[in-house]
Amino acid sequence: MTAKTPAAARRCPRCGSAAIHAFRPFCSQRCRALDLARWLDGSYGVPVVEEDGADDGELSRSDRDR
Ligand SMILES: [Zn+2]
Repeated sequence: MTAKTPAAARRCPRCGSAAIHAFRPFCSQRCRALDLARWLDGSYGVPVVEEDGADDGELSRSDRDR
């Protein structure tokens, strides 16, 4: 029972290592970046470009410019 270090109690949801205050709740910038990338991929990674899979970037750009 070591309740003296609440910061150490936190664990990285990515790898399970002890989280660092600077990168909490993750243990490192890498874990944070990976988790963030995963979130972005899950949230914005579902475009309806099954037909134009090659020009998805241009399509999105054109649509946004309008
Ligand atoms: Zn980690």
